[in-house]
Amino acid sequence: TEFTSPPLDDHLLSNISLAGYKNPTPVQKYSIPIVMGGRDLMACAQTGSGKTGGFLFPILSQSFLQGPSQNQAAPQQASGGYGYRSRKATPTALVLAPTRELVSQIFDEARKFAYRSWVRPCVVYGGADIGSQLRQIERGCDLLVATPGRLVDLIERGRISLANIKYLVLDEADRMLDMGFEPQIRRIVEGEDMPKTENRQTLMFSATFPRDIQMLARDFLRDYIFLSV
Ligand code: AMP
Repeated sequence: TEFTSPPLDDHLLSNISLAGYKNPTPVQKYSIPIVMGGRDLMACAQTGSGKTGGFLFPILSQSFLQGPSQNQAAPQQASGGYGYRSRKATPTALVLAPTRELVSQIFDEARKFAYRSWVRPCVVYGGADIGSQLRQIERGCDLLVATPGRLVDLIERGRISLANIKYLVLDEADRMLDMGFEPQIRRIVEGEDMPKTENRQTLMFSATFPRDIQMLARDFLRDYIFLSV
């Protein structure tokens, strides 16, 4: 298939073919080589364009090749005096998106394409019980899909560290700003924990490219490629 240039990891290709995808959509065709080439990306693409695969495929492909050893830098924390151990999640990839529906869709795709690999996807969003989300991330979290407000809450509770992030994706960035998430997004992306632009790869997706998105792109991306499909 056309998914093979540049070559994606074989295991990922078999998961893509299990999903019934035969050829990349236009946004996938252009974004996959850009991301595999290590570049930051600002992509203008609509819902329905296949943009989720456009960021998940190169991130998963490279993660499969790199293996899990990269994710053992952050120490496990022991907390409390009751023999109770609290594990801090240290994802290597973070996807931010505006709504519960969207993060759930991205998570479902991530699970499908990470099938039978070492990568454990997980999802957190606001307006739902935090206890079950905490138990989920404690079981392991390599690729985290999150709404901004709930992620800030989990960072403040000390349950998630972003120190190991290699890939940062802002999906539907214009909708996140419309919903008033800019303070939370800046708290996450410009927080102490988050590796600086030169030590991570950052991808932004937005349907539109107004001035406030241009400012975010200027602040969060490094020497980026602009793609409009
Ligand atoms: P998205 O824009 O990422 O929400 O994707 C829109 C829909 O297209 C989803 O239902 C995907 O499962 C589907 N899709 C994405 N990429 C492909 C592809 N390469 N071939 C066939 N279907 C796809």
